[in-house]
Amino acid sequence: MLDSLSQRLSKIVKTMRGQARLTESNTKDMLREVRLALLEADVALPVVREVLARIKEKAMGVEVVGSLNPGQALVGVVQEELTAIIGGDLSPEERSLNLRVQPPAVILLAGLQGAGKTTTAGKLAKHIVETMKKKVLTVSCDVYRPAAIEQLRTVTEQAGATWFPSTTGEKPIDIAAAAVAEARRRFYDVLIVDTAGRLAIDEAMMNEVAELNSYLKPAETLFVIDAMLGQDAVNTARAFNEKLPLTGIILTKADGDSRGGAALSVRHVTGKPIKFMGTAEKLTGFEPFDPEAMASRILG
Ligand code: GDP
Repeated sequence: MLDSLSQRLSKIVKTMRGQARLTESNTKDMLREVRLALLEADVALPVVREVLARIKEKAMGVEVVGSLNPGQALVGVVQEELTAIIGGDLSPEERSLNLRVQPPAVILLAGLQGAGKTTTAGKLAKHIVETMKKKVLTVSCDVYRPAAIEQLRTVTEQAGATWFPSTTGEKPIDIAAAAVAEARRRFYDVLIVDTAGRLAIDEAMMNEVAELNSYLKPAETLFVIDAMLGQDAVNTARAFNEKLPLTGIILTKADGDSRGGAALSVRHVTGKPIKFMGTAEKLTGFEPFDPEAMASRILG
């Protein structure tokens, strides 16, 4: 088991008691440990650099108050900065779903295959039905995998929402148009649109989802990403963020054994709020994202 960051820092600071301020020289070794902790959490290197620069800027000149030693003071600064970067500095409104549009409010889910989009569609449907008391319709525009359409049907039923049928013989745009028409006709508040993913970024897939997005003009365009992706999260997130006007992120598989570096990387490259996280395969494994808890996890 690796030592936690605070344990590692406390070893370093044994030698420098009684210093009243965090300075360039007394934090040098400690910042190296912070850097290592971030890399061990699988935060991408360019992100680590920028985050460290921000931490350093905040830390310089911080008074070491009361019974704290410089290490504890620095851990406090690091914890605060990471929490802020991951989303602690966003308002609760920015972090929650924005469905304040003329119904049906469309939510489009995009991401790589296996990221957890279909499962997340079910989780979101359940969340909206149960906590927001809204009427939800779901539809799959994944015309490449019949199993994905069936999977959406299953999770939608479990969620207490309604599934709109689609088939692999149709065009994604036509499916989307039919689902919107149905949602209007039957007064659904929310339409959740699941889209096709590929195992890697692919031009055709990106164009297809971008086209769907322009057509649907969703209230929320959510990027679904697997927390276990680690450093690869950076490139995937960048590609989706360039192609789609994302309004938020859902981090899945946060119950895995990753330290959560993907959260920091994705937030950093997209600048978009992480709104929810998936914490189990089943539909109840879904929570609003907690920046503070994630920062603690990244620091170990
Ligand atoms: P899609 O291809 O993006 O639609 O991904 P799926 O929804 O089919 O999910 C891929 C796999 O990840 C499935 O086995 C899901 O059960 C699993 N999965 C999705 N979200 C989570 C999560 O939050 N935690 C865990 N442990 N597994 C998840």
